[in-house]
Amino acid sequence: SVVPDYLTEVLGDVEPDTSGEPADYIPELAAADPDRLGAVFATVDGMVYGAGDIDTEFTIQSISKPFTYALALADHGFDPVLAKVGVEPSGEAFNQISLESDTGRPYNPMINAGAITAHSLAGSAELTPPERVQRVVDGLSAFAGRPLTMDETVCASEMEHAHRNLAIAHMLRSHDILTEDPRAVVDGYIRQCSVLVTTRDLAVMAATLANRGINPLSEERVIPEPVVRQVLSVMSTCGMYDAAGDWATQVGIPAKSGVAGGLIGALPGQIGIATFSPRLDRHGNSVRGVSLFERFSADMGLHVMEVP
Ligand code: GLN
Repeated sequence: SVVPDYLTEVLGDVEPDTSGEPADYIPELAAADPDRLGAVFATVDGMVYGAGDIDTEFTIQSISKPFTYALALADHGFDPVLAKVGVEPSGEAFNQISLESDTGRPYNPMINAGAITAHSLAGSAELTPPERVQRVVDGLSAFAGRPLTMDETVCASEMEHAHRNLAIAHMLRSHDILTEDPRAVVDGYIRQCSVLVTTRDLAVMAATLANRGINPLSEERVIPEPVVRQVLSVMSTCGMYDAAGDWATQVGIPAKSGVAGGLIGALPGQIGIATFSPRLDRHGNSVRGVSLFERFSADMGLHVMEVP
């Protein structure tokens, strides 16, 4: 296949760009090697192509958000989830402390307020906090097609500096959007963010979304089709936070970024794409990841608004 050669070439083109900084509000993330760079394509018929650092593990961070939202929808149905988390782009930073003024709901499940709420809705309502974390890790593992583990060091590091997420969770509790102990929910959400993945795993997870909810490698159905449509729609409007409009016009692929430097895109019926490069722009999106996706979209005509 010519795909690995193409990926190697494009990685080489973006490699000299060392602009941006790795996230440092989670001290342990600042310790990561900022020069790592990788990209993987996983097709809906089960082919996986990669170049660069495709087997290096890093924490999934916010890329867990669409998948946990999917689990909440699959476990509870749409109405109870929509009653607690909206689907409107906030146009704000991922960690903005804000809720819809009339309903008290978080704007969408891709910003932290909505993601913390979605975490609380994964699995049945009776689960204990550790059981809920297990439901999420098992669900993320099904998307990846292998058992995933957690980085306890990154998790402890984020928990020590979680004041902002705790503030968000307490605000959600005051509006009865959260009904449990806010501290326990934030602890579970941070554990969810600390799940370790490779670029290859992320591409397979994205390909599962692209493939109607069926993992193209394990062939397991992970979530129902209506949930896939909901999740991809929200990714396309909210996945890149306050850069979502730039992304929608320049790249045009439903996507989600994480502060450890991962980035995924899912093109329905075609392909899951993942990139990894830890230096971030001011929105918290990977600098070289965004460049890679701009190239992929332009070179292969992947923009969803273009007729192939
Ligand atoms: N765990 C991080 C947080 O809650 C995830 C943020 C992100 O990846 N954008 O702040």
